[in-house]
Amino acid sequence: MKHDSSASASRRRFLGHALATGASVLAAGRALAQPTKSAPVTAAADAGAPIAPGAQPAPAPSHPSLALPPLPYAPNALEPYISANTLSFHHGKHHKAYFDKTNTLIAGTPLQGKSLDEIVKSTAKHKQHQKLFNNAAQAWNHNFYWQSMKPGGGGSPTGTLKQRIEKDFGSYDEFKAQFAQVAVDHFSNGWVWLVLERNKLKIVDTHDADTPLVHGLKPLAVSDVWEHAYYLDYKNARKDYVSAYVDHLLNWDFVAQNLG
Ligand code: MN
Repeated sequence: MKHDSSASASRRRFLGHALATGASVLAAGRALAQPTKSAPVTAAADAGAPIAPGAQPAPAPSHPSLALPPLPYAPNALEPYISANTLSFHHGKHHKAYFDKTNTLIAGTPLQGKSLDEIVKSTAKHKQHQKLFNNAAQAWNHNFYWQSMKPGGGGSPTGTLKQRIEKDFGSYDEFKAQFAQVAVDHFSNGWVWLVLERNKLKIVDTHDADTPLVHGLKPLAVSDVWEHAYYLDYKNARKDYVSAYVDHLLNWDFVAQNLG
């Protein structure tokens, strides 16, 4: 079975666009898109510019800024497959930076106080919010990535999940081969996902910060294939890192929980 074709990827992008988001989310996007009366004309060209403070009073949220969740395990819990050094930098520096930047960009805008999900969905496909989307989606994707792994994970799932893998991929080995192939074929930075599309399990990749969340797909698990995820431990051997992810780290309990 071949993995995702570019034709279906295009269709997914189109579908994602067509299905995107609800009215309140769109309203938030529109509100953000409007330059304020007092803003200089050039402000409209600044993709990431927040609304001028005071133009529209920000709500008084109970959580004024989005918080970086702690790792769901100790930084050395995934050794020897992912080192404490990699996890500490990846979570404490890279992931934290995406949260910090997101908080800076939403400050004083109608999106302050919204959930990370809402921010990702309402900024997707809005060119003028590319910078905010990139940072918010990276924050969201990393939250999902940490949960997609656990110490002692990986290998073939059991029970219902095993049956679903066999039904949609042919076998666990075929699933594993396909996951590795999509990761190896992926050019540059991005993510490799196990998703549910119309009740069928699929493996898809996304570039940069892009996320299935905004393409009408249900994410089930993800592997980060940005170099910062594996370079300290594997150098350029992305295939070895992804094989270790599938063989030893993949959290099937999280997949089952997402399948519902
Ligand atoms: Mn990363």
